[in-house]
Amino acid sequence: MAKTKVISVANQKGGVGKSTSVYNIGAGLAMSGKKVLLVDVDPQGDLTKMLGLRKPHDLPLTLGNAMNDVISGVPPGEHPEIRHHHEDFDFVPGNRTLSAVETGLVNVMSRETVLRQYVDSVKRDYDYVLLDCRPSLGMLVINALSASDYVLVPVQADYLAAEDMTELLGTVQSIKRQINPRLKIGGVFLTMANETNFRRDTVTAVKENFGKHLPVLHTVIPATVRLAEISTADKSIFRHEPRGRAADAYRGLVKEVLEIGEKQRGKSAECR
Ligand code: ADP
Ligand code: MG
Repeated sequence: MAKTKVISVANQKGGVGKSTSVYNIGAGLAMSGKKVLLVDVDPQGDLTKMLGLRKPHDLPLTLGNAMNDVISGVPPGEHPEIRHHHEDFDFVPGNRTLSAVETGLVNVMSRETVLRQYVDSVKRDYDYVLLDCRPSLGMLVINALSASDYVLVPVQADYLAAEDMTELLGTVQSIKRQINPRLKIGGVFLTMANETNFRRDTVTAVKENFGKHLPVLHTVIPATVRLAEISTADKSIFRHEPRGRAADAYRGLVKEVLEIGEKQRGKSAECR
């Protein structure tokens, strides 16, 4: 199998569509025949809920437990925390155990790479591993970025805060310098674009603001109740409304994600 790509979906702002995007990109990659693992790295467990486990905090086996095993030096063996989703991908649920893990990391040796060690122990079975980050730039997000080949940044179309982007970029750059030299920015994409801001010049404006520093993807995800509905529908947008414009948009995003993966694969092949 070709080398696994590990992708963080991150933005320190909440409610920008990270978890929704992780679910739909994951489902779309699985539909294109890729082997996919989604990992809920947010103590709120929103992705876990979207994937049908409505009470994440009652789950006995989650990412938090798996990270605790890494911290205690338990050798990786079976992975009972990995579950299968009916849309043909696997996922690791997350819940508030992760908050305790995050707090405890302060006293742990190699605290930035605990999640990477976990991901390394499971990734060989997958083409893509997607990490759904919590809205912060704290230790769990640093762990996710340290484990990743690249980061995708959803940005709410109405809220293009340059200082937030600068802060996120600063974190990415310092992780790249100090911990994970292979980390790249896969791209920024606009989410929740409505009639007023769903215009081509919004993308142009984003490119003007940020394009010098980072790639801006072509896909714009519209604001639609269809996407809000998937958090309780137990279906990705591809099954919920396959012929709608939200499904079209996520199809486009999946294609761009595949292209980023292929470009990087091409480059590493050239280097050999
Ligand atoms: P984050 O993970 O960044 O906090 P979510 O994916 O949980 O964001 O999305 C926040 C809320 O907005 C959720 O209720 C979700 O169902 C809804 N939502 C996500 N994307 C869209 C969209 N494109 N249009 C309308 N609602 C959306
Ligand atoms: Mg989320």
